[in-house]
Amino acid sequence: MLNKENLIIILDKLFDLSKKYYDDFNSADAKIGDGDLGITILHGLEEIQKNKVSFSNDMGENFMVCSKAFVKRSGSSFGTLIAFSLMNISKGKKILIGRARMFEEKTKEFDDPGMFALSKLCEVF
Ligand SMILES: [Mg+2]
Repeated sequence: MLNKENLIIILDKLFDLSKKYYDDFNSADAKIGDGDLGITILHGLEEIQKNKVSFSNDMGENFMVCSKAFVKRSGSSFGTLIAFSLMNISKGKKILIGRARMFEEKTKEFDDPGMFALSKLCEVF
């Protein structure tokens, strides 16, 4: 299960990759856009790095911190999309599909079984 410590490890790896692929992202974007995708990603993740000291054990709050941090430093449409994605993750949500939907609000406290199974199966990669 994702917790604060795992999230920090993932964010550290993403930040490292954003530096590694900085020029590649900018070059790919420059072919059809304004060439700032590497800048957007690096700055957004850099701001998250600065804010991870405020993480708590509440993962919803942590993803909201990430959302606010990312959008603060990245003004492009990509930055906005990432920020909205992180904001939506922060809300967690009750399960709406399948038998589990009958448990209403209680499902907010549990992993979605299908997503849990998929995450375990993805360990093969
Ligand atoms: Mg751009």
